[in-house]
Amino acid sequence: MSNKNNNNEDRLLPVKNRTEPFWLCERDTILQNARTTSELPNQTDIVIIGSGLTGAMISYHLYNEAEKLGKKINIIMLEADEVCSGATARNGGHCKPIPFIGYRSERSKHGKKVANDLLSFEASALKQYADIVTKEDISCDMNVTRAFDICFKQDDAIEAKKDFEARIKDFPNYVKEQDIRTVDDPKELEMLTGVKGGYYGASYPAGHLWPYKLATSLIRISIGKGLNLQTHTPVLSTRESKFHSGKWEVRTDRGIITCSQIVIASNAYTSGFLPEFKDLIFPVRGTVSSITPSKNFQKGSLPGPLKYTYGFRHGKGEVDYMIPRQGRGRIPGLGNQSIILGGSKGTYLKDLNQWYNNKNDNQQLPGAENYFKNFMKNYFIGWNDGNENGNVDKVWSGILGYSADLLPYVGEIPDKPGMFVCAGFTGHGMPRIPGCSKAISSLVISKLQNGFITANAQKKFEDSLPKPYWLTKERYTSKVNLIKSAMGQGEEDKTKGALENSDEAVLAARAVRAKL
Ligand SMILES: Cc1cc2nc3c(=O)[nH]c(=O)nc-3n(C[C@H](O)[C@H](O)[C@H](O)COP(=O)(O)OP(=O)(O)OC[C@H]3O[C@@H](n4cnc5c(N)ncnc54)[C@H](O)[C@@H]3O)c2cc1C
Repeated sequence: MSNKNNNNEDRLLPVKNRTEPFWLCERDTILQNARTTSELPNQTDIVIIGSGLTGAMISYHLYNEAEKLGKKINIIMLEADEVCSGATARNGGHCKPIPFIGYRSERSKHGKKVANDLLSFEASALKQYADIVTKEDISCDMNVTRAFDICFKQDDAIEAKKDFEARIKDFPNYVKEQDIRTVDDPKELEMLTGVKGGYYGASYPAGHLWPYKLATSLIRISIGKGLNLQTHTPVLSTRESKFHSGKWEVRTDRGIITCSQIVIASNAYTSGFLPEFKDLIFPVRGTVSSITPSKNFQKGSLPGPLKYTYGFRHGKGEVDYMIPRQGRGRIPGLGNQSIILGGSKGTYLKDLNQWYNNKNDNQQLPGAENYFKNFMKNYFIGWNDGNENGNVDKVWSGILGYSADLLPYVGEIPDKPGMFVCAGFTGHGMPRIPGCSKAISSLVISKLQNGFITANAQKKFEDSLPKPYWLTKERYTSKVNLIKSAMGQGEEDKTKGALENSDEAVLAARAVRAKL
């Protein structure tokens, strides 16, 4: 099946003939093109837009919450393309919370407590994944290990060290509980990590899994409880119903659904049907590869399989990330143990057209394949018997949803009661999606049950989610865009619209950031 509406070509929607990621080598052939009902129903309680990890987790939580209340709910999940074929099927599979890098900057914007909340929130994701995977017995190769962050530039090492010292001074117990260990001595770092050339490193708990398998398993569970999944059904627009007060209409090229609530889980593509998000969430193209370990990095040889996951920090915006898959299924060590390596940003960041506001994951990023081919031998001691391609099996691209202020938007849209958003993960969704999807679900279910969000539900939401993630009116109307500067490209705060390029723009940007 394909999207037949040619008028949709300029719209921000997933493109056709996309590069093939490793993670889709075992597609769920039942869900892939599924339509639970052949006709699109014309009404329901809730429409979820998007079937990636966010949509999947939200539907899972909504059915669980409804069950606890003894309430029957009807949900339709609309997916523009195949099931779960966006960022969740194209990412690095890496659940790596940020433990301290950037702490001082967040502290200066939000104060100590909130800066710490942001980091602790990410750290808690690992347990949330483990709990769901264990409870539902999901086969998604989940592996809990330690991540090593390595700084390759002396300046970055100095800044990272200052961030660590600041967080441990402010919150010694959190750092201890999270078991963050730093390594100052480059030689020791090399011995521990097997990686050449780092100045400073830190290790802490992290994990990896097969995101597509987790998401599709959760969708299957939801279908068992009544979810109606409709793939190849792009949402084109939404509007308030003229006929049913307080309800919404979701328009697709297969018909219109009237519903009480809409939950938007379309990440990078959100402005494709909700123009209000055009200046808030931007499609940003990234790239990942899969690599077969060379013989001496396999079992029974020395140094043997990699144990840690990695973040390779080469400079502002230039971060590579890697996970060593431990095999398939529930028994680690069996089957394919590919290394998944993403990043290569140094090869294309300077060419904005290649990545910023770019939805073309049907094309490769220039220089990426070559970069990945040389990566293992350039960085890992003893990687010496790879093939001429550096054992690279696949390279693919994918579209990340960068939010203008670099943090996800989670909540009810200020001027659209009953329409909720959980998107803008800024290339860092794995440690954020479990907590964000749970928090938004509590609001949605409260509104469905009571017709409004109760004070208790609002409190639960606010207690469980760092304040800078809340979709406040200030964030919703903000013209700040920090994306290019965060990637080391261009000046900070080049705002759009009426305030463009003025001193007021910079002042306004600062004021908004101060409030976040
Ligand atoms: C190359 C790459 C590498 C990454 N690596 C990592 C990593 O290692 N660690 C990490 O934490 N994060 C990583 N990320 C980010 C992470 O993958 C995302 O944050 C996460 O997958 C977002 O999940 P989601 O469900 O919100 O979005 P998606 O998985 O993109 O799902 C959104 C879904 O909405 C559908 N959709 C879009 N428009 C419409 C419409 N109009 N109607 C209906 N459906 C629509 C899409 O087709 C898609 O299936 C990476 C992302 C990419 C692209």
